[in-house]
Amino acid sequence: MADFGHGKETVYWCPRCHVPVMGARCGTCGDPGMELNIARPGDLRPAMEGSIRLIDRLLDHYFGTGRIMGGRTVMLNKMAGEDRTDEVIVDGRLFGVLRYDLLDQEHRLDLKIDGARMLLDHAIRGTVELEPPPGHLAGKTVDATAVRSSTGYQPGQPVIATAGERVMAAVAVCEPGRELRLREVGRGALALPPPVRWARMVEANMEHLRAMESRAISDLRSVVGNLRLPITVSFSGGKDSLVTFVLASKAFKRVTALYADTGLEFPESRAYMDRFRREYAPDMLIAHPHEDFWREMRRRGPPTKDDRWCCRFCKLEPIAKLLADRFPRGVVTVEGNRRYESFNRSQIRLRENNPHVPGQVRLNPIRDWRAMEVWAYIWWTGLPYNQLYEKDYERVGCWMCASCLESEWQHTRHRHQDLVGRWERALSKVGKERDLASEWASHGFWRWRCPPPKMMKLAERLELDPRQIRLGDDCEQERRQRMDRRRRR
Ligand SMILES: [Zn+2]
Repeated sequence: MADFGHGKETVYWCPRCHVPVMGARCGTCGDPGMELNIARPGDLRPAMEGSIRLIDRLLDHYFGTGRIMGGRTVMLNKMAGEDRTDEVIVDGRLFGVLRYDLLDQEHRLDLKIDGARMLLDHAIRGTVELEPPPGHLAGKTVDATAVRSSTGYQPGQPVIATAGERVMAAVAVCEPGRELRLREVGRGALALPPPVRWARMVEANMEHLRAMESRAISDLRSVVGNLRLPITVSFSGGKDSLVTFVLASKAFKRVTALYADTGLEFPESRAYMDRFRREYAPDMLIAHPHEDFWREMRRRGPPTKDDRWCCRFCKLEPIAKLLADRFPRGVVTVEGNRRYESFNRSQIRLRENNPHVPGQVRLNPIRDWRAMEVWAYIWWTGLPYNQLYEKDYERVGCWMCASCLESEWQHTRHRHQDLVGRWERALSKVGKERDLASEWASHGFWRWRCPPPKMMKLAERLELDPRQIRLGDDCEQERRQRMDRRRRR
């Protein structure tokens, strides 16, 4: 379960009802569903409005298709990559790969063969008719003489090529002798699926959702029954903790929501939290950092991917103190951790003791849920969720998180110029005080205390002194230790 290795994961799709099948068969028509192989770990999720709009914008740009995906059930599946990389699944087929290009600082959509077949009848540009070349086509590069006619395309963009019955997902190269690279070959057009509401997916998977719910509830009760401790639910404003809150509330008579207010939440999250607290969790306990984050940042530099002091400072310590004050005899905390989320979480168990908070028992009732199941469950319950998910954010955390994707940082730049401006001013102040190059702040070097090789290469290209783009002064030593550890393994 939740395999982060190479290879594929199989999920199922009902071709009749146009919905994912999460259990043994489609609850609407009884079809066992057709297999779809997706990249591991396979944390499938729905493409919400903002993501659909982004996909439509790219498709319109490449193929002039207008708003073609609105209302259809499109799913995304996160895979390994430099930055944001998502498989795009339309009607149970691999349509393309949506990714963020760090060099061009833009989103791209690489078309897969089924995507090319679905767009064939809709594209008004980005198409090419080829002189049928002999032999095997996939992976082949053709020159301009093979082009019989074309509706126009730009280098680097996806192209839909046809040769007789054959359809190809290609990429424009546009160099002398190399006009197009043919990536995948198929036959004939595919129809786009009819618009389907997500409620249909919930209906078709009701039995499965009920089973998941009752398993989670009995898991919770089985542990808590013997403990006789007060029960809290860690609530972050994200989708996973929302589901966890619902499950814990169904399992027990009394649960108290716990929230760490970092002071660094998105305005959207703040509004959502206020509403949630008012309507569903009036006795929510809120922990605040003991010191000012911005002062701490002047002192130690910004939190980075390799030194996330913010987490301890803004969340763990305030929560630990609050729990120790409120529940000196121990407490149960129900959390929304899932194995599919990350390699670090792929081994979590139902019950874990918190090494940092003595007396706290942590429970992970949704550890085996995929994001798709979390969403289906939320839609089933009808509870309000954080609107950032509708704006193409996959995770909702602090708005300046060093671990967030560059693609999400770009969204934040558009949505909240004031916040990003404040962050950049604070960064450049820290940079100046420590004699760092201005690129440390402007080119994302600040995200690491010791930047990784890819960032060191960027520094080289920008002709920057390595000492001027990092906060850590022991990075050489750390690099050697890391290599030693790897060798010993
Ligand atoms: Zn069905």
